[in-house]
Amino acid sequence: MKLNDTIAAVSTPRGKGGIAVLRVSGDEAVAVADRVFAAKNKKSLAETESSRAVYGDIYACDAHGTRTRIDDGIAVVFRAPHSFTGEDTVEVSCHGGLLVTEEVLAALLAAGARPAEAGEFTRRAFLAGKLSLSEAESLGALLEAKTHAALVLSRAGLDGRLSAAAGDIYHALLTIASALYAAIDYPEEDLTEMSREEAGERVLAALARVRALADTYRSGHAVAEGIRTVICGRPNVGKSSLFNRLVGRDAAIVTDVAGTTRDILTETASVGAVTLRLLDTAGLRASEDAVERIGVARAKEALAEAELVLAVFDGSAPLTDEDKELLDALAAKGGVKMAVLNKNDEKTVLDAKNFADFSAVVSLSAKENVGLDALRDAIEGAFLDGSLSLSEDAVVANARQYASLVACAEALASTATALSDGLLMDICCSELERAMAALGGLDGREVSEDIVGEIFSKFCVGK
Ligand code: GDP
Repeated sequence: MKLNDTIAAVSTPRGKGGIAVLRVSGDEAVAVADRVFAAKNKKSLAETESSRAVYGDIYACDAHGTRTRIDDGIAVVFRAPHSFTGEDTVEVSCHGGLLVTEEVLAALLAAGARPAEAGEFTRRAFLAGKLSLSEAESLGALLEAKTHAALVLSRAGLDGRLSAAAGDIYHALLTIASALYAAIDYPEEDLTEMSREEAGERVLAALARVRALADTYRSGHAVAEGIRTVICGRPNVGKSSLFNRLVGRDAAIVTDVAGTTRDILTETASVGAVTLRLLDTAGLRASEDAVERIGVARAKEALAEAELVLAVFDGSAPLTDEDKELLDALAAKGGVKMAVLNKNDEKTVLDAKNFADFSAVVSLSAKENVGLDALRDAIEGAFLDGSLSLSEDAVVANARQYASLVACAEALASTATALSDGLLMDICCSELERAMAALGGLDGREVSEDIVGEIFSKFCVGK
């Protein structure tokens, strides 16, 4: 891929719409657009002011140099560095027909642009320093957001909340590193403005900040990535009914024939700010039926991976052997476990004492839609840090960012030990550099091409 060669793509979704927007970016963007677009005011785009919308005709040019008018529309020039990509960019709006849009794109390509790859505009913005890596990830998350809370969180990330917090800590580490290096370079002189003790204290202070930031991932993960959730219980306790209540529509088929939920259904539900990725399973009981057995095997797998288990029981009936088997199976299970005592519209006979090792026991009626809010509150309470503001605070929103902070914390702890144990300053510095590299990875100061490629490949063409 050549840097700054000129790329073009349709930036609005494929399909019929009122308008479509095409984006051209690179050194030749204005020249390319000028070959296709003729402003009614007779000025070329090269002579047109930045950020000014001009109306004109859009032309295609064939191999013989014959120009055909395809459409009329608006062009806006954004000159480097004041554009999304940081390069010269022209946005052309035309009518949103499928063919019109394709022909305008073809005209731009014939005029010298090449088709943009998935995420290439954003990648260029990143390379030009317009966006940090975590901001680019937030942009991707914003486009994908399925819940309001996820939208608010990604918007804050895009505004640089996380970047700024990580940048501050990075800066603090840089100050320590330069003082320590000065001590290595001029050991005899009394130039060192920072003693080993002070450096150690500062490293520990930075470590505390890194850990606090990493801790926000519990909430960020719950909001942005979603909690892997399994609803389990013996047949007919009301798993499908609960699933539908949480998802908010009839996604699972509710029947009173035991064992009809054969496959695992995955749905997203928002519970306040928390996103649940719900797996409704066939239950955990053995079965003679081959199809159902597959379902049961998958259910076990899902249960092993679940971060939240909603174990459903029929509160109007005593525990059966199957219920007890489920309780045994769950005894060793990590993560958050909640017992749902369903059917409380009928007389309750189950005793909450049976569920002592569950983080919550909620009595409700899925059928009558009573008591669901108590369950929602329990879930929010278990996964969200209530003191955190999704719109104002720096929040770690994905596993990659979290891993950078964990690696940074590990290296900082080792730096602090090296300093307090009186190890050679060279060793202390190399540990500190390792911490800085890990933290830098969060925001793309130091990050491999593979990771950058992976992040931007998730965007669509035109973004
Ligand atoms: P699953 O097999 O565990 O998925 O259970 P379903 O959701 O399919 O429900 C089994 C039966 O229990 C259906 O007849 C539901 O109408 C009934 N049911 C579900 N929830 C409740 C409830 O809260 N109260 C009562 N009385 N019946 C319920």
